[in-house]
Amino acid sequence: MKRQKHPNVHPVNARSLHAAAARLRKGALVAFPTETVYGLGANALDKKAVAKIFAAKGRPSDNPMIVHVSDQKMLGKVARRVPARAKRLIAHFWPGPLTLILSKKSSIPSSVTAGLDTVAVRMPQGLGRELVRLAGVPIAAPSANLSGRPSPTTAAHVAEDFPDVFVLDGGPTKHGVESTVVALDPPRILREGAIPGDLLRKMIPDLRRAPGAARHELAAGTGGLSSKVNGAAESPGTKYAHYAPTRPLTLFLRKSSFLSYVREHPRALILCPSRLSPLFSKQRILSLGSSPEEIARNLFAALRTRRRGTELLVLAIPRRGIGRAVMDRLTRAATRIVR
Ligand code: AMP
Ligand code: MG
Repeated sequence: MKRQKHPNVHPVNARSLHAAAARLRKGALVAFPTETVYGLGANALDKKAVAKIFAAKGRPSDNPMIVHVSDQKMLGKVARRVPARAKRLIAHFWPGPLTLILSKKSSIPSSVTAGLDTVAVRMPQGLGRELVRLAGVPIAAPSANLSGRPSPTTAAHVAEDFPDVFVLDGGPTKHGVESTVVALDPPRILREGAIPGDLLRKMIPDLRRAPGAARHELAAGTGGLSSKVNGAAESPGTKYAHYAPTRPLTLFLRKSSFLSYVREHPRALILCPSRLSPLFSKQRILSLGSSPEEIARNLFAALRTRRRGTELLVLAIPRRGIGRAVMDRLTRAATRIVR
């Protein structure tokens, strides 16, 4: 149904995949599903192609991109060196939603890495990997949304932001949040993501969270209502405004403050875990699902919702497993945070 509304959206099949790969090879943009979110891809070795991504997204030029590879040989064309710890993570988590920061080869244009001498690399699972393999070149691909908007988890989300870009439609994405970004030497998480830190720590016990990896901290002494702290981040992209919903979004850290605010604001739209929806039978609710995994999958679509409601209200979830990435995204998306 939605597919007919967007002539630039193409269901995945052998023909559309080959057409997408051919476009990438000739320097055009293609939006494609990965297991995390949809990406807006271009040939990472082609400076002009990469410039089209920055222009289309309105992405600041100091925000580097993730380069997607299909195999170890392609990784060798992107990264100068793969340290032992990175090899261990690769053996266990690739293909998958883990991005590694490695030393960059000179064949990668400096615009891709925003002038850094490191490059962010990952090997996606399934269809994303197949597309990179068919293209035969590493693919630079940030999320396929206009800069500042929520990341797309369906082809329709991509088409909303980019009505003219060729979009491969592979259905809703599996994880719904972006990859976990890890730097080595010393090992640290630069961005929380689809692979929980605890899982990575089984392999790399001294893996830490870099300052600014998650803006969970709140300004102290503001008495309940709090502005967000804009910590300096080692991962350049994390300093920018992200995931902005079309209406004010308030994140509540405590159930008591959430419930009392909700009671006083009957026209708000409540983004709510299914177990709480019976409490709000007379109100506007958008169910996020029950498990943290399901909430992660539904999160960005909820931030793009067109459902009625004067404002969006959401309650914090436990910062465990993928819940940590969900809280990171909610914290960035929120207009304000209430204790
Ligand atoms: P996205 O725009 O969702 O693809 O996010 C890419 C993330 O990776 C951003 O947070 C970037 O700041 C981060 N990133 C990309 N390249 C590097 C790099 N060389 N060093 C540190 N962080 C990087
Ligand atoms: Mg993004």
